[in-house]
Amino acid sequence: MKLPVSFLRAYFYCSVLPYMLAQGIVRGSDLSARGTRLHKAYLELSVKASKLVEAGLDPTDAVNSTLSDIINLLKELNSPNPVSEARILADFRTRVGFAGFPVKCEVELESDLLIGRVDLIEGYTPIEVKTGRISRGDIFQVVAYTLLMDIEPEKVAIDYIPRGRVWINVTRELVDLVKKTIPKVAETIVEPKIPERKKMCRTCSYRAECSLLFPR
Ligand code: SF4
Repeated sequence: MKLPVSFLRAYFYCSVLPYMLAQGIVRGSDLSARGTRLHKAYLELSVKASKLVEAGLDPTDAVNSTLSDIINLLKELNSPNPVSEARILADFRTRVGFAGFPVKCEVELESDLLIGRVDLIEGYTPIEVKTGRISRGDIFQVVAYTLLMDIEPEKVAIDYIPRGRVWINVTRELVDLVKKTIPKVAETIVEPKIPERKKMCRTCSYRAECSLLFPR
């Protein structure tokens, strides 16, 4: 079985989470309804606006030209405030700019070991889109995508909406760390280690499923 790159991120949240994901006991995404909506609309906005920039439009004008489409999409996605959410996304997109062209979204990548779907590729730069806080797992996830690309980029990025774009240098040390983590994650899927009682268990959204699997 090829290891989904998202399992690497999950592993840093908790070492048993990849097992629960592999068994289909929990879902892959921990995004709220708002997070899911903003994520989808941002990808759509990014691709549409990038095509206008490639056609010669100023980036700010390109983003603003897509606003009505994004408002409609957010309405379809049951946004309680589509205009303000579209404005948040447009302002963010204008602020971070484009790392390169073309801009593609939800690009499926795979190697002998790994499989994944990167949110955005701008030129040769893979970019993950998140609405939460920065985490080590996010960094490992986006760096892992570089192992699946034909051209290894020097930098990758994570767009934390609405905070900003975080750039990560793809150093040899970081890539080696990611590579070393892959077999550990693969191992936990076959043989999950019963986790120590953790402080974060109290607020973990997977607590119910976890205590059924690992009664303590
Ligand atoms: S409840 Fe605790 S051990 Fe279980 S998945 Fe959550 S953090 Fe991990």
